[in-house]
Amino acid sequence: MVQGIVNWSTELNEEWLQNYVDDWVAFYRKHTKDGEVASYIPKLQEANPHHLGITIIGNNGLEISSGDVEIPFTIQSISKVISFIVACMERGVSYVLDRVDVEPTGEAFNSIMHIEMNQVKKPFNPFVNAGAITITSMLNGNTSDEKLASILNMLEKMLGYRPVLDVDIYESERDSSMRNRAIGYYLLETGLLESDLNITLETYFKQCSIEISVHDLAKIGLILANDGFDPQRNEEIIPRQIARITKALMLTCGMYDASGKFATYVGVPAKSGVSGGIIAVAPPRVRDEAMPFLSGCGIGVFGPSLDDKGNSVAGIRLLRHIASQWDLSIF
Ligand code: GLU
Repeated sequence: MVQGIVNWSTELNEEWLQNYVDDWVAFYRKHTKDGEVASYIPKLQEANPHHLGITIIGNNGLEISSGDVEIPFTIQSISKVISFIVACMERGVSYVLDRVDVEPTGEAFNSIMHIEMNQVKKPFNPFVNAGAITITSMLNGNTSDEKLASILNMLEKMLGYRPVLDVDIYESERDSSMRNRAIGYYLLETGLLESDLNITLETYFKQCSIEISVHDLAKIGLILANDGFDPQRNEEIIPRQIARITKALMLTCGMYDASGKFATYVGVPAKSGVSGGIIAVAPPRVRDEAMPFLSGCGIGVFGPSLDDKGNSVAGIRLLRHIASQWDLSIF
């Protein structure tokens, strides 16, 4: 039975929070039937649409996991957060932002029309495919594996282990990539690519196929919640300015063309991907009353059944519930 109105000042112990999250994961799992798994990359269609899992890692050391948290999945568009951070660290923020803008589009992530219609000849932001492919072309390295290593090195620093590729998804993505190739050719024609087109696209398909867990997403979220600092290892991973710009982009452009609604109803920086993953970042809040994770947390969600915008249908509802009950909004 799900809990009703909660007095958080008396319910902040770990066991109670665990039961609370378990109840709501069970509740929102029913909502997975309201969406569909992605099918435009054939291999993604094999995901179980009923899966739903969440991990929350708090600055206070508290960690709550519930649901299908053991299922690995590919990072997909969430890799765009990492490649953007790496490009800014390798090239400098102004170099990157001179070439890719920071504006939301209101269009699908893989739209070709809007890049052509943009008067300023640069992609709208690093999280639409045109921007992400441009960013990937900036990464250090002369081969796709060298460029990918830049991303894997950063993930290794964040997660404490080096993730691997899901080769089946990579091959499926590479072999069904007509639209991304079309975007790549357009970028080539406009002079925006900084590396060979095929090397850039190979890197992009590989970076999207990195295998990750809900726990990993929560850990990345925790580092971003702390402006790039890992509170668990007491170490700066991302320079503060880059972490802050990344969060601004996540808030304005991270949830496809539902980013405005997500900012309004959930109110935290987030990034999703078509395999059903979401990273959400809840910075510390200043509140007088007791609330869970008041000192900030990172949240990872996985639910491969997607809504019509490409976001995890049950994952978004679960996040919206938790964010409103725990007052996680940054606004
Ligand atoms: N690899 C996917 C693509 O470029 C990533 C899309 C996404 O997760 O939004 O189509």
